[in-house]
Amino acid sequence: MNINQDCLAHLEQIRWDRKPKCPYCGSTNYRKLKNERRYQCNDCFTSYSVTVGTLFHKTHLDLEKWFVAIRLVLNSLGSISIRQLAKKIGVNKNTASYMIARIRNAVNEDKELLRRLLEMDESLN
Ligand SMILES: [Zn+2]
Repeated sequence: MNINQDCLAHLEQIRWDRKPKCPYCGSTNYRKLKNERRYQCNDCFTSYSVTVGTLFHKTHLDLEKWFVAIRLVLNSLGSISIRQLAKKIGVNKNTASYMIARIRNAVNEDKELLRRLLEMDESLN
């Protein structure tokens, strides 16, 4: 398993309790695809991974970087600068700025997910 797969497994645990659920129709009838941690819904035939509908969807960034960024942004109570975040996780300033915006948005839209991610992080350390 690579790190990104570990992170996906982690997210699956938090969001689904490891039982994949289609984000489009809510069905739990799925088959596993060969790609890493992707599933195809047997009811609406859409393929998905656990990131659909979260702040991580379609970002092409390692989840590990996201997890670190979330901790940094939330623990600094939002005061971390774009430049500081870019430096800490090794991305450019545009990416860091985009990540901060998404994380702030998720604080409103998906607070529960962020809370559980942080909790789980603590229990792993
Ligand atoms: Zn479906």
